[in-house]
Amino acid sequence: MEKLVGLCLNRGFIYPSSEIYGGIAGFWDYGPLGTEMRNNVKAAWWQRMVRERDDVVGLDSSIIANPQTWVASGHVANFHDPMVDCRKCKRRFRAGQVDVDDRCTASDDGKHELTEPRQFNLMLKTRIGAADDSAGEAYLRAETCQSIFLDFKRVMQSGRMKPPFGIAQIGKAFRNEITPRNFIFRSREFEQMELEFFTPPANAMDWFERWREIRMRWHYDIGLTPAKLRWHAHAADELAHYAKAAFDVEFEFPFGWHELEGVHHRGDFDLRQHSEHSGKDQSYTDPEAKERYFPFVVETSVGVDRCMLALLSSAYCEDEVGGEKRVVLRLTPQIAPIKAAVLPLSKKLSEPAEKIAADLRRRFAIDFDVSGSIGKRYRRHDEVGTPFCVTYDFESEQDQKVTVRERDTTQQERIALSELPSYLSTRVLGY
Ligand code: ATP
Repeated sequence: MEKLVGLCLNRGFIYPSSEIYGGIAGFWDYGPLGTEMRNNVKAAWWQRMVRERDDVVGLDSSIIANPQTWVASGHVANFHDPMVDCRKCKRRFRAGQVDVDDRCTASDDGKHELTEPRQFNLMLKTRIGAADDSAGEAYLRAETCQSIFLDFKRVMQSGRMKPPFGIAQIGKAFRNEITPRNFIFRSREFEQMELEFFTPPANAMDWFERWREIRMRWHYDIGLTPAKLRWHAHAADELAHYAKAAFDVEFEFPFGWHELEGVHHRGDFDLRQHSEHSGKDQSYTDPEAKERYFPFVVETSVGVDRCMLALLSSAYCEDEVGGEKRVVLRLTPQIAPIKAAVLPLSKKLSEPAEKIAADLRRRFAIDFDVSGSIGKRYRRHDEVGTPFCVTYDFESEQDQKVTVRERDTTQQERIALSELPSYLSTRVLGY
């Protein structure tokens, strides 16, 4: 973890938010490479979940909704974590999660004296408008899915959809986590990629199984090792009160197996709740069967940030090339922040090499790197996961070919310049 965090900091993936003021616990910034990689993760999810399907459509809803939303969803009453205080040093912890090496600074033996657990609501509050009273109180959303339920009828009618169909959304969510920890694994501001799939009740279990399969396949396809992925079925006492069934996709992070994604069979809880609380009927009437029902919901919910951490930690490798140690991020070309680096062998060759880079930039994220020996430049790009390095040398002037080096095998191939875009396209995009 330490090495990975160092690499993320030094190579522009992830930094502490507002670092020059000492940072702020549970908030992170994504640097230039982190932003590219994040966009690739989101694009891969959107491609698989929305674009490749004719039964799922997208939504981009506001972060703040009418506060009644969170009363109806049960978050105001139930979205709690147990919290304990240390009577001596006054610090707060999530019950059961005080690290063994987290010592109390106000006692001689370093041991905390903890209170009994109390419930702590995890929703982040904000205030809207000029009035300084509770009428302006609102919440930053704790999950993106509630607006999907609120917009269910609008989307269904305007999109001429009917169950079974799904609504997908990617967006920020906020939780006042008592102990944000493990880098970006548990933060207070994070991003979720959620699908709510509305089905006739009779088909819900079928769809639940189908979505489980699709979701696990996606994790394999973005490059996570199957050996580091497993299912965890929620036991009866773990299930949310409304859930009919729930499975987590767990990943083996450097600090152990933890939830990466949740796949939940939510029954008709959400649409019923919002119908009752808003007084607006959210049921659906099947025009053919003349049957009225509240659609059942299968939800898939995965964090962008947890995906980033899973991808970075499973891609991080140290190996040897030609007797020299190197750090390499074995990200798939689809997820890698930079697809290819264009490297002129000498500064004198910068002009034609820059033209190649400019041409490739129309399709791919490309880096142009002229400083340092070619070996050093290869290492720099191995370290940030660039799958291909394209070297323009003195011979290129004559034969109009470049050397393409592949990151993992370090094998080199001579490719005609006219074929370079389609060569990269096949390897990066798969077509
Ligand atoms: P956990 O038990 O780890 O707190 P959860 O069961 O509360 O997670 P869900 O409410 O199911 O999580 O949220 C769906 C997904 O959103 C999670 O699988 C995770 O990827 C992501 N997520 C949830 N909380 C956080 C957080 N504090 N920081 C980063 N990602 C998060």
